Formats: sequence, C-alpha cells, structure tokens
Amino acid sequence: MGRPKKYRIVEYLLKPTNFKPTDRKANGYVEITIDELEAIRLADLEDMYQENAARVMGVSRQTFGRIVKSAHAKIADAIVNTKEIKIGKDEKCRNVKLIKCINCGKIWRVPISYSMHKCPECHAKNVEVLRISKSEGEK
Ligand SMILES: [Zn+2]
Repeated sequence: MGRPKKYRIVEYLLKPTNFKPTDRKANGYVEITIDELEAIRLADLEDMYQENAARVMGVSRQTFGRIVKSAHAKIADAIVNTKEIKIGKDEKCRNVKLIKCINCGKIWRVPISYSMHKCPECHAKNVEVLRISKSEGEK
C-alpha cells in the first residue's frame, strides 16, 4: 500500500501543457508534475532558498529537494535526448489563496478550503486574505 499523496501548495494555476522539439520528431517523452514545475519555478526562477520554497509549498526541505532534483533530471533528459515534455498530465489545477500577516507582513499561500490561519513567521492570528486564485476554466 502506498502512502496517500500529500497536498502541496502551488502558487499559480499552472495549466497542463506540452513542449515538443520543433525541428525533429520527439524521441519519447518525460512527464513533469505540477509540483515539480512549481518547485523549479520557486528554486530556479525566484531563486528562493530551499527552506523558504519548501514552506511555500507546504513540504519539508528534504521533500522539496527531492522534487527539484527529479524535475531537473527529467528536463535534462528531455533536452539532451530530444524528448517531449508533458506537464501536469492528468492533473487538475489547484486553487490557493494568499494570506498576509498584519503583524509582521509575511505573505504565504494556503489551499482555498483552509480556514485556520496562523502566521508561520510570528505565529500571530491577525491575518488578511489578499488574493484568491480563480478556478480552472475561468479567465
Ligand atoms: Zn506574522
């Protein structure tokens, strides 16, 4: 029996998509999950420290490191071996809301259904909801 998949927090609604080589036939494909895409976005594009990025996604630093490593390996495989990249195959986009701590100003993300808000930084309960992402299909 496998462990149940833990919920991970993804900041943006990332639509499943595919990348293909344009000048030759793809030599097979790799599948990148939405978690992996979000992890490399935080680590490589936003240049976040793994500890912070892990907190944003709601996973441990070790788990975050594993997700990033897995994503890098798949992307390298795709580029080096001319493979198609399929992102978020069979995955649904997830909704999150941004919460801001009125006490210290920290901003973080939680699932939209989440109602217990406590600042991960200063533990204050005085928070406001900044933004709610739109659901799948809405523009
Ligand atoms: Zn705070």
